[in-house]
Formats: sequence, structure tokens, C-alpha cells
Amino acid sequence: MNDKDCIFCAIARGDIPSVKIWESDRTLAFLDISPMTKGHALVIPKAHFATLADVPSGDAEADAACREWFLVTRLLARAAIERFGGANLLQCNGPAAGQTVGHLHLHVIPRQGADAVAQPEFVSGAGKYASDSERDEIAAQLREALANLAAAEGLRASATSAR
Ligand code: 5GP
Ligand code: ZN
Repeated sequence: MNDKDCIFCAIARGDIPSVKIWESDRTLAFLDISPMTKGHALVIPKAHFATLADVPSGDAEADAACREWFLVTRLLARAAIERFGGANLLQCNGPAAGQTVGHLHLHVIPRQGADAVAQPEFVSGAGKYASDSERDEIAAQLREALANLAAAEGLRASATSAR
């Protein structure tokens, strides 16, 4: 499944050096070459999926890869929180979302009160709806799409999450 031209696959194979934080058969965590903060790391499943939309459903190995991917992320975030005080997670899918490396990855970005990282692209309130009906329409579209995707996976929401 490794993509020959993928830089993170090359890192996972060991063809390109990286500062590794964690490695298992399915998962690799390594320091970002251009860190936003000290300790900024990337966690990847070793299997090549370009984005979250490219992870196949109903695939036991993909499920196991994603489960471990998030477990390692959660534990690395915990380590970062304990060491630095806080952490942001960032996960970009597609060029429209600022993804520059087309291999699924989660950023774990340690944060300290004194660091100088601004969050200019994540401005609270910048996505203001034109009206409540626009908000409700978008919510309904996402609700229906997610319900269909979840149903296809045999996953049911609790009664309280439905409207
Ligand atoms: P994206 O914008 O796709 O979410 O983030 C890709 C990240 O990969 C960037 O933060 C970038 O600094 C990092 N990166 C790109 N090439 C390499 C590399 O060869 N080695 C490492 N360690 N990080 C890389
Ligand atoms: Zn890859």
C-alpha cells in the first residue's frame, strides 16, 4: 500500500531519516521538520491513506490502523500536555484544507502559555452564518450525511443525538 512517491511512506520505510518518537508495526510518530512549537510531532498510520476520506470502510486492517493511530496520538498529546502545559491537535485533509503532504497525519503541537503561536486561520466567529436557517440547513446536511455513513457501518446514534 506504500506510495512510492510519498515522503511519509519513505519516512515510515526508513528511507528518509526522521526523529522518531514512537514506532510500532502500524504507527509512527516523529518530529515535524518545520515545527510550529518545540516538540511539534506528526503521528501517521504507516499504511498509505491520502486523507480521512480515503480510509476504506469495513476493512479490519484499516480500522486497526486508525484505532492505533488515534491511541498513539492521544497518549502523545497527554505526554505533551504533561511536559508543556497544553497541546493542539491539527489534521488537514486535502489542499483546500491546507494539507501539503498527502499521507494521513495528525499534528500534535505542544503549547505553553508563553509561546507565540497565533491561530490566524482558526478565528473564532469567522464562520458566521447568514441566518439561522442557513445554520440549520448545513446542520441537517451534515446530520443526514453522517447518519447514512454511520448506518452503512452499522453504527447507531443514541436517541438524544437525533432531532
Ligand atoms: P500538512 O500541512 O500536510 O498538515 O503538514 C505536513 C507537515 O509535514 C508540515 O508541518 C511539514 O513541516 C512536515 N514535513 C514535510 N516534509 C517533512 C519531512 O521530510 N520530514 C518531517 N519530519 N516533516 C516533514
Ligand atoms: Zn504515504
